Amino acid sequence: MSHSISIDGTPVTVEAEPGDTILDALLMAGVGFSYSCQAGNCGTCRCELVSGDILELEYSEHALEASDRARGVVLACRTQVWGDTVIRKLDDEEFIVHPSRILRCSVASLDRLTHDIHRLRLDIRSGGPFSFSAGQYASIEFPFAPGRARDYSMATRPDEATLEFHIREMPGGSVSAGLAAGLRTGDAVRVSGPFGTSYLRANHTGPVIAIAGGSGFAPVRSIIATMRAQGLANPVHTYFGARAERDVYGEAEMRTWVEGRTGSSAHVVLSDPDPDADTGTHAGPRRFGLVTDAVAEDFARLDGFKAYVAGPPAMVDAATALLASRGVASRDIHADAFHPANIDKEGTT
Ligand SMILES: Cc1cc2nc3c(=O)[nH]c(=O)nc-3n(C[C@H](O)[C@H](O)[C@H](O)COP(=O)(O)OP(=O)(O)OC[C@H]3O[C@@H](n4cnc5c(N)ncnc54)[C@H](O)[C@@H]3O)c2cc1C
Repeated sequence: MSHSISIDGTPVTVEAEPGDTILDALLMAGVGFSYSCQAGNCGTCRCELVSGDILELEYSEHALEASDRARGVVLACRTQVWGDTVIRKLDDEEFIVHPSRILRCSVASLDRLTHDIHRLRLDIRSGGPFSFSAGQYASIEFPFAPGRARDYSMATRPDEATLEFHIREMPGGSVSAGLAAGLRTGDAVRVSGPFGTSYLRANHTGPVIAIAGGSGFAPVRSIIATMRAQGLANPVHTYFGARAERDVYGEAEMRTWVEGRTGSSAHVVLSDPDPDADTGTHAGPRRFGLVTDAVAEDFARLDGFKAYVAGPPAMVDAATALLASRGVASRDIHADAFHPANIDKEGTT
């Protein structure tokens, strides 16, 4: 017998099978809800349990402190429902819902940003207009990999006509590794979305920190470009983490965008630098070590910051834990971990 999950103060009610987590049921029903690690480590999906028969799975104390649990806060990703349940969102989030679209696009260009990251530009041919918020992602199905749609974050501003994606070739990746050989200018590509809740909160007037690992730079680029275009004057601190010099891209543009702003800074942090390959011609200074260590070195406290984080899951988890420990409220941490696809999604073109 299925149960209902309602979000108090909204018209949202979804069905859940016994044992589904709150987050599973909301996402299955297409309800926008903030989440990241889906494993009880980050705390992004915290919400208040108003009523219901539930069973909580194990979670990290970084994600949910005992004092918060005592006042009824739970993690949606670790809370199974075994009866009709009512939850409430914790804050007055800027909640933006864009119409979900299936777009037919064509490849405008495909080139390389680094030795293993492609820049894909797509023109929308039909199915638009495509409205999204900076920082969101779309699901893309390529003609050379039918039925294997993958998620990629938009790197451009929402008002730009051409969509841009930064796609890293995963070693052995059944889709990303086939891009160079399998895709040509003019090819038809199916894009659906937008998805995700790690988008720019334009109402926030305080400082912003953005942490990107590798192609996690894509949503950060979209967010910073949009802030700039909208004239948002918040101080911004960007951290781009990469292994070595050959993995850095987009730096000159980002430095121009960020370093001109009052009280702002842009950093490139290399975890595994190769001194022989470093020509010394890059656009700014280098820091060495983990990107999270650089943030920790620079900020004893980050109270009042809004944080955007994207990239490999391990980096996103470490950054999320650091930000929380330095005082960023969990509602102010917007993180997209680039988890591998669990299942191949069938196309419906
Ligand atoms: C919300 C979201 C946004 C994303 N945005 C981007 C983006 O902007 N740019 C981008 O390059 N990627 C992004 N990704 C990752 C992307 O969706 C694919 O997972 C990635 O391109 C690999 O797909 P594949 O088919 O080539 O690999 P698969 O065939 O699915 O996997 C091949 C092997 O690689 C491993 N693997 C796959 N992905 C990862 C990973 N991320 N980390 C560690 N191991 C992995 C798998 O476990 C498997 O062993 C995003 C993912 C999510 C969930």
